[in-house]
Amino acid sequence: MKADLILTNGIVFPAREADSIAIRGDRILAVARSDEIGALAGEGTETIDLEGRPVLPGFIDAHVHLFDAGLREIGWRVDLSGLSRDETLAALREAVKSRGEGEWVIGEGWDESRWGERRYLTRGELDRVAPDSPLGAVRMDGHMIVLNRVGLRAASSIVPDHGSDLFDPEWGILREEAAWTLLERIEPDPSTLAEALSGAARLCHRLGVTSVHTMTKAWRVPILFERRGRDLLRIGVYQTVGSPSEIEGIAGYENDQWLRFLGVKVFTDGSIGAGTAAVTEAYPSGGNGILNYTDEEISNLLAAAARAGHQAAIHAIGDRAIAQVLRMYARLDARSELRNRIEHFELPEERQIEEVKRLGLHLSMQPNFIGNWSGPGKMYVERLGRERDAVSNPLRAVFDFGIPVAFGSDGMPISPLYGIRAAVNAPYSTQRVSLDEAIAAYTEGGARFGSEEGVKGRIEEGFLADLVVLNEDPFLVPTDLNDMRVEMTFVGGKLVYAREGRCG
Ligand SMILES: [Zn+2]
Repeated sequence: MKADLILTNGIVFPAREADSIAIRGDRILAVARSDEIGALAGEGTETIDLEGRPVLPGFIDAHVHLFDAGLREIGWRVDLSGLSRDETLAALREAVKSRGEGEWVIGEGWDESRWGERRYLTRGELDRVAPDSPLGAVRMDGHMIVLNRVGLRAASSIVPDHGSDLFDPEWGILREEAAWTLLERIEPDPSTLAEALSGAARLCHRLGVTSVHTMTKAWRVPILFERRGRDLLRIGVYQTVGSPSEIEGIAGYENDQWLRFLGVKVFTDGSIGAGTAAVTEAYPSGGNGILNYTDEEISNLLAAAARAGHQAAIHAIGDRAIAQVLRMYARLDARSELRNRIEHFELPEERQIEEVKRLGLHLSMQPNFIGNWSGPGKMYVERLGRERDAVSNPLRAVFDFGIPVAFGSDGMPISPLYGIRAAVNAPYSTQRVSLDEAIAAYTEGGARFGSEEGVKGRIEEGFLADLVVLNEDPFLVPTDLNDMRVEMTFVGGKLVYAREGRCG
């Protein structure tokens, strides 16, 4: 059997013994040395010389919000990530000018923790940008939105629970459920959502991501299934739910290598940046965050998911939320074959890590959170104090306990290389892992979470030919990975991305 494509003269990860990969159809036909692989070359075989570059399994980002990333990528939502306060306001002003009169503009991704003056955006600032049309700006964690006066007026007729701590008209802030209820009502039409998916796939390819697990609202799930495989990105779906009846109402989906319905996502608390993650010790600024559900409700959700055979992916950031989730998982009959997950797990106590191990749970963690917010002068220190920052995101302990971990980005931003750098160069030894461990968590980790460890996440004969080629060998410069870039991305043996200036 001859190969369709041979990648040669590379460094094949992680073993680094072979230098060539032969691909036939969408699968890896052989992994070998170049002197052996020549026998698989036929008349129609294309060969790409990797010029000594490393080739890794395609990255699997185990926690993204694909539609949101795509809506930013195509410009429907204004991407505010990485911008200063002034740039943020300028970008919003630009967008307001280009939209039709009275049309909503939603910006997304601002992060005051990176600004000199660490204040949230204010209603007054947004009023000056858009005096006559509704405008909202979602904080980078997605757990709060700031609105202008016109937007606030529109929101008060949409969002029911005014006056609670989720709806603060004085500052124009909506949090958690209140923010999401509003955003649901400012939903783009289905064709824009489909376009967003293609945009998100392009973004992923550029960053070496060949598979994602996406957390998705119920009504957007059918759009994913309509577009199955069209954007050459492999997608595992977790549907956001809030009640057992929603779980019971989930349609039976047909899974294949492009698209798999994997489970349900439940939010048990908020975020640290928005001050809503549920913590035992109060925030220095006051309050213990928010638990979205009672024990009973969590227990019922977990039981309903298990009955329906869906994996549960439970968002729990603060130790108080983690404690609740662990208590409720412990009540559940053993269903470890479902590979139930906890998302984020940013502020666990040490004994909670042990409990995760005992219960056979899987941890979906985001090393980019460390890069974004941990260390002297960063957001965790400001919101939680230095002591709690130093024990946040304890990747080292989690790996040492042998708990299955998958890395993901939660879209802040999508970029496995950034996440890997953050995990390897973390400010505290309790957070730091080796390059091998970080790469494995961004490849094999996600494959295992999706029960696909036999087809993806490694470069082996018979596996899907999902591959990423980097510009240089990260092991030569493990403490300075800043120049690491994605050169090429292959999905199912097809070249889906080549960096500009490369013909592939
Ligand atoms: Zn998320």
